[in-house]
Amino acid sequence: MSNLGLQAIYGFLNTREDSVCERVFWDKENSEKGALPLSVESQRPLADFAVLAFSLNYEIDFFNIVSILKASGIPHYSEQRDETQPLIIAGGPCTTANPLPVAPFFDCLCSGEAEALLPAILPVIGEGISGKRDDLLKELAKIPGIFVPRFPSAKPLVRQKMKNLDDYPVHSVVLTQDTELSDLYLVEVERGCAHNCRFCMVSSAFSPMRFHSLDSLVKQSENGLKFRKRIGLVGPAVTDHPQIEELFRSLLKMGSQISISSLRLTSLTPEIMHMLVQGGMRSVALAPEAGSERLRQTINKGISEAQILEAIRMTGNAGMQQLKLYFMIGLPGETDDDIQAIVDLALTGKKIIESKRGKTRLTLNIAPFVPKAGTAFQRLPMAPLDVLQNRIAVLKNRLSGQGIKINNESPQWSEVQAVLSRGDSRLAKALADIEKESLPDWRKAVENHQINTDFFAHQEWPPDFNLPWSIMEPSSR
Ligand code: SF4
Repeated sequence: MSNLGLQAIYGFLNTREDSVCERVFWDKENSEKGALPLSVESQRPLADFAVLAFSLNYEIDFFNIVSILKASGIPHYSEQRDETQPLIIAGGPCTTANPLPVAPFFDCLCSGEAEALLPAILPVIGEGISGKRDDLLKELAKIPGIFVPRFPSAKPLVRQKMKNLDDYPVHSVVLTQDTELSDLYLVEVERGCAHNCRFCMVSSAFSPMRFHSLDSLVKQSENGLKFRKRIGLVGPAVTDHPQIEELFRSLLKMGSQISISSLRLTSLTPEIMHMLVQGGMRSVALAPEAGSERLRQTINKGISEAQILEAIRMTGNAGMQQLKLYFMIGLPGETDDDIQAIVDLALTGKKIIESKRGKTRLTLNIAPFVPKAGTAFQRLPMAPLDVLQNRIAVLKNRLSGQGIKINNESPQWSEVQAVLSRGDSRLAKALADIEKESLPDWRKAVENHQINTDFFAHQEWPPDFNLPWSIMEPSSR
């Protein structure tokens, strides 16, 4: 419920005369007790609906698709379904980058943004849903940005995007206590990112960077303050908004508390930091991604050590309670020296905070580099698991005793993510066999279907190797 994309689609469909949208959340525990998944609003089973639309945000979401369909008594392969069953659609960042690993489960998959796709899809579904399924699928396959695995087009799949974000303001439409960010009214500030970090799917799958206007953001926030005291500004680099300071000033003037989802450290100023603290923010996250200048250049991060240290200084001076620094390990060309550079940077940062008698707690979040479809690094390998484990151990050994907290993502699950990110449609058979989202079940399934996980996760692919997602338009691969 804190996913603004999902809320935007829910709001979009329910403001139209010709559609109604309900929500369903996968409740694994209930399902294990034999309960049928039901929609939140009308408590209907999923097989009753005309269309089921999945939002796939992370590769690990793929594990739930077959479980939900099985628990609902719906055949999980598209070719096993006909017009007596719901039309099953998927969208989101994963289907925009590489829909292949889950393609056999879906009747159609969307590449791009819902507001740009839905006006074209809805009339076709409205007209064809009670006719023959194959006829409907053939009509859907003609729509730009729609991939119908049973009737693939010979033309490349062109990602659909909005020109003017103000045409569809995106904000919370369902407010509930039953969610992570329950005290926030969320407002989308921007989409895409202009910084083109070579590992990042945001710049490849959502470019170009576009902003909602200051006027629209202020109006939405004004409305949001009727329901919540805090406005949560959402975007990949919120402080890149050209009028961010004016926006913060307007929010503070309205008596709003402020929270932001991300902060690009090059656009940080003491004034911005001061307003964030005034707006009640207690924790800030910055993403240097790599410890050394050399590696940051390799990944095109575009930030210098001086800028990182200055941002840490500002955070400490402003009296933030917590600073989280995000780093990746296993980046292409990384050496032991780059890991030491993370240690040195963290220790220097801690000293800077302490020199001002600051009380800011420092946390490092470490994630293995995972090659993603559509990015500049899509053909590069993920580091071997033993290298990643060793690097995590080095960071923990050298920093844990220094009062710096280290959180890390699991290298094993990152490997699963890499296989699903660069995988092809053979992966679907393995996903269909997995009963439980667990590493042993995953390993058994990929082994049974002779899937070479090393090839998908850990091998470099030569420039002439035909990418599994070659159906996408060239600018997206
Ligand atoms: S990592 Fe952040 S700054 Fe870089 S392209 Fe992605 S969203 Fe933009």
